[in-house]
Amino acid sequence: MFKAWPAFFFLALCGSAIAEPDFKTLGQKALSLSQEYIRIPSVNPPAQTAQTAAFMKKLLESEGIECKLFESSPGQVNLVARLRGKNPGKQLLMLNHMDVVPADASRWPVDPFAAQIKDGMLYGRGAIDMKTTGIFQALTLIALKKEKVALQHDVILLCSADEESGGDQGAQWMIAQHWPEIECEYALDEGGFGTRDLLSGKGELVFGVSVAEKKIVWAKLIAEGTSGHASQPVPDNANDRLREGLNRLSQMMQKDSGVKSRLIEDFQKRVNGMADNKFTRAIQRDTLSITSLRSGVGDPPKVNVIPSKAEATLDFRLMPETDLPAFLKRVQALLADIPGLKFEVTHSTDPTPVSDYRTGLFASIEKAVHSEYQQAVVTPYLVPFGTDSNGLRQKGVRAYGLGTAVVDASIIASMHSDAERMPVDQFEPALRIYYRVVADYATAP
Ligand SMILES: [Zn+2]
Repeated sequence: MFKAWPAFFFLALCGSAIAEPDFKTLGQKALSLSQEYIRIPSVNPPAQTAQTAAFMKKLLESEGIECKLFESSPGQVNLVARLRGKNPGKQLLMLNHMDVVPADASRWPVDPFAAQIKDGMLYGRGAIDMKTTGIFQALTLIALKKEKVALQHDVILLCSADEESGGDQGAQWMIAQHWPEIECEYALDEGGFGTRDLLSGKGELVFGVSVAEKKIVWAKLIAEGTSGHASQPVPDNANDRLREGLNRLSQMMQKDSGVKSRLIEDFQKRVNGMADNKFTRAIQRDTLSITSLRSGVGDPPKVNVIPSKAEATLDFRLMPETDLPAFLKRVQALLADIPGLKFEVTHSTDPTPVSDYRTGLFASIEKAVHSEYQQAVVTPYLVPFGTDSNGLRQKGVRAYGLGTAVVDASIIASMHSDAERMPVDQFEPALRIYYRVVADYATAP
């Protein structure tokens, strides 16, 4: 009887009953489908997704949901499916990417593409990022149809071909080339987690729902100077110049950038006592990682030769509110008096809007999470890395990164790592929450 309580609670919250599938059976199906899906190694590069798209198409069409395929380049296939709602507008897009990053099998405890279950975990490339979510989304669409849920708004599914190389052949390509096929006002994407230790310092269960991401700025710092015999130091050693530039940049970044973020204030308010770790530090401020240093003459570099050139690559991640031109001006001014030093931006992301989170969809997320975990904190936050959502936000879409499984920080960190995994006992509750979010949103006027 106790087990029926969350469902009852949810219905009571909704005020009206939305038909639901048998989640116990469907959770098991989600697990076995995820295994099949992980066994298709859709590694990016080259992100050949014809096979994964065929897998999804077969799954959806066997339940009577028509699919459209869009090939962005040979073998790179995107899939779109749709359930129609009664009213125009307020469409909800469920977005997942079918590609995965490569895996070095020799470093894994199990075969990364065997989708083995070990010690209560499903191991495999894509287990977190993000094939299981893709299955939750597809099964949500199927269940909505099977249960004959009366949708007020269209629910669209996009399984994209390419996210791990920037999305140029995936979601970004669909936005640019086939917007009418996926046009939406709201979207659910990757970037969220339910976790007890990543966000809360007190072990509270927190569901972080991503509503923004940081700006990426990649740059090079190049120093030039006079080469010569290392026995006679020169005042214009390129290495000294580079070191001075890097020191100044590091000091500047360690000082508070002074950016006011309403989103972070809201996040801090909701998560009473935030955990202190590299993730929570990264999402509250502008950061810099020095990612490479190149210098010296010869390989290996000759120890007694002063080189004429030294170079560093820099990865800046800026808060959405940080003004990029003003930031770059500050950097240039900071380095201006170091002779022979050049600062060059090699890549920067487009604007990074913050999605409004005072919305019906966000309320549906809160309601669905609380139906499963009454005490959980649901909070908007941002992610320090890039996702496809940014392209949608630029189109005015309110895009949320939602992860409905409860996972600890070590599992979240297994993303892109040598032991990517998802707890087996999370499939049923995670699918239930996903379904309830979408069903609640799409049946509301
Ligand atoms: Zn991903």
